[in-house]
Amino acid sequence: MYNILDQQLQYLPGVGPGRALTMAAELDICTVRDLLFYFPYRYIDRSTIYTINQLREDMPYVQLRGRISDIAEEGVGRSRRLEASFSDGTGSVRLVWFQGISYLKKSLRKDVDYLLLGKPAIFNLSYNITHPELEIIKGDELPAGQLGLHPVYHTTEKMKRQNLNSRFIEKLVVEVFRQLGNQRVADTLSDELRLSYQLIPLHDALRRIHLPANMQEVPMAQYRHKFEELFFLQLSILSFAQKRNGKYRGFIFNKVGDLFRRFYAEVLPFQLTDAQKRVMQDIRNDLVSGRQMNRLLQGDVGSGKTVVAIMTMLLAIDNGYQACIMAPTEILAEQHHASISRMLSQLGLRVELLTGVVKGKRREAILEGLNSGEVNIIVGTHALLEDPVQFRNLGCAIIDEQHRFGVEQRSRLWRKNTNPPHILVMTATPIPRTLAMTVYGDLDVSIIDQLPPGRKPIKTVHIYEQRSDQLAQLISREVSAGHQVYIVYPLIKESEKSDMRDLEQGFDTICSTFPDLRVGKLHGKMRDQDKNEIMQHFLARKLDILVSTTVIEVGVDVPNASVMAIINADRFGLAQLHQLRGRVGRGAEQSYCVLVTGYKLADNTRKRMEIMVSTTDGFVIAEEDLKLRGPGDIEGTQQSGLFFNLKIANLVRDNEILETARKAAADLLETDPDRHLPQNQPTWQRLAQLRNPAVDWSSIS
Ligand code: ADP
Ligand code: MG
Repeated sequence: MYNILDQQLQYLPGVGPGRALTMAAELDICTVRDLLFYFPYRYIDRSTIYTINQLREDMPYVQLRGRISDIAEEGVGRSRRLEASFSDGTGSVRLVWFQGISYLKKSLRKDVDYLLLGKPAIFNLSYNITHPELEIIKGDELPAGQLGLHPVYHTTEKMKRQNLNSRFIEKLVVEVFRQLGNQRVADTLSDELRLSYQLIPLHDALRRIHLPANMQEVPMAQYRHKFEELFFLQLSILSFAQKRNGKYRGFIFNKVGDLFRRFYAEVLPFQLTDAQKRVMQDIRNDLVSGRQMNRLLQGDVGSGKTVVAIMTMLLAIDNGYQACIMAPTEILAEQHHASISRMLSQLGLRVELLTGVVKGKRREAILEGLNSGEVNIIVGTHALLEDPVQFRNLGCAIIDEQHRFGVEQRSRLWRKNTNPPHILVMTATPIPRTLAMTVYGDLDVSIIDQLPPGRKPIKTVHIYEQRSDQLAQLISREVSAGHQVYIVYPLIKESEKSDMRDLEQGFDTICSTFPDLRVGKLHGKMRDQDKNEIMQHFLARKLDILVSTTVIEVGVDVPNASVMAIINADRFGLAQLHQLRGRVGRGAEQSYCVLVTGYKLADNTRKRMEIMVSTTDGFVIAEEDLKLRGPGDIEGTQQSGLFFNLKIANLVRDNEILETARKAAADLLETDPDRHLPQNQPTWQRLAQLRNPAVDWSSIS
């Protein structure tokens, strides 16, 4: 059946190939369907025509009716503009254009009445309207459909230059609905689903969001479209998980063997927290389920995820498999390697480290050991994903990540075995629930919501750099008590000279303020060997103070450190501040985090400092962070084919709709797992289309 929605945009009246190309390039609008799913961001009420003597400066967009005179070009270079006078018998306003001057000079007429839409502003004691929209009034008739509410669409500069303005898009939409006549846009959701979630039909939602009869029609339409977006996003993610679970058998680790038992009884120096025990139980259930484990382990900094990782790996080895653990940075991989080797030293396992800097003979030996199965555990960075890394029998992969790691990248680990290994993703930064449901939406979730006993909450203060004597006092006191101190400088770009200078100067100041203390310096530009040496010295308490960049941000574990001072803290985001703070408070002693900034702070920045001072709860911080920053793009996942750009829904503001939509998607997959039910066919077709927009649907008819 021929469907207007599949029609290419260029065939709509007034478009043509040139403008179609621009619309495609600028807004990704290629077909009539794309056009209908390009929503207005606000509406203008055009039901009133004002007279010029009624204008007030606080008015939003207004309509005027009048004639143009005195058209003249003014200024040169960047202030070059076209000006004209616009009068309606009650007064006159000045019209100003900075763009499209030559076109306007040719087309503006003095002998006709215009209907003008624009925002009045006072300039030199009279009203100015910049870049007004003008439409000729023919005879005494107002342009058809002119009065009432009108949608406003975002357009780009390039579009405006070709006269592809909001008004133009509106006209196209009106034309599409005219062509549709009595035909209705087919729904993407079954009546059943629509009714149970109180959604208006897609056709009505489209008409009402573009061309509402009144403002009361808009919210229901917006709700339907937001639901639609989030529903298909969740359906995409959950159906991916469903397929994966159907396709792969999971290795069954039903033996709790010698290694696991000995570790638990002889090595583990402490009792697991209840939260750790609960998570271990989740994991053990996965490992005997016959399905591949795909689990996200969330736990605040210092909550003890590493032990859980080690025990999971031991279960794999007990059952005859190898295990790997992947960290986001070399330093962290090295640290994991050191601590895991230490913890497992009595068990006679071969634990190796593979990063980009491991080269030559050493690398060959490790690769060989992996291939033969002699290496039981490999710790590494992204280097583990490379093709030469081949396992004899990888049973379990752990991803300890700071940066988000998309479905696509995760799946590269699966291919390390004919049957994919069990996967445990550990996040150091708590992720707000809404984002977790999306970025990690295909994973089962376990949460460690409890810190090991005896931890004192870190005290956080915000001080101004003018009072850095307060910091100096704290440092002397803590160092005299035998503790160590981190001082962190923002080195956002390691290449930035000014950042580097701050660090160097800070280091010099610290050295001269504390001539008796041992001060070390660490930054990303140093050779790995030197970095390592400094870190080892700090760990071995051969340094009192470590002046550093954020290279120490993730995971580094020095329980004796009790002060984290963050200089120019305003330059860090909340998530990063929280990570940095997590480097202290890892022992039983009281620890401190000092945020140092100048007096002058933007509101947003002051808010960040306040949040840091008021809570140490990573989940609260993550939620606040998302609110302050907005979800942005979902890093690392865009190419996976599971995600679509959200046009109207917002992961922060619309989290309730997201929850509902996820439930609806899960229900659908449960009631129609084989996708056979006739009423759901439009839904599955739409999903396929969203996942693969490159397919030219107009050729299928
Ligand atoms: P995370 O990786 O979650 O930030 P770690 O696994 O590095 O946390 O653990 C932080 C510190 O707490 C480590 O020194 C670890 O040995 C210790 N730890 C972990 N679990 C417990 C526990 N149940 N009781 C006491 N200390 C623990
Ligand atoms: Mg950790």
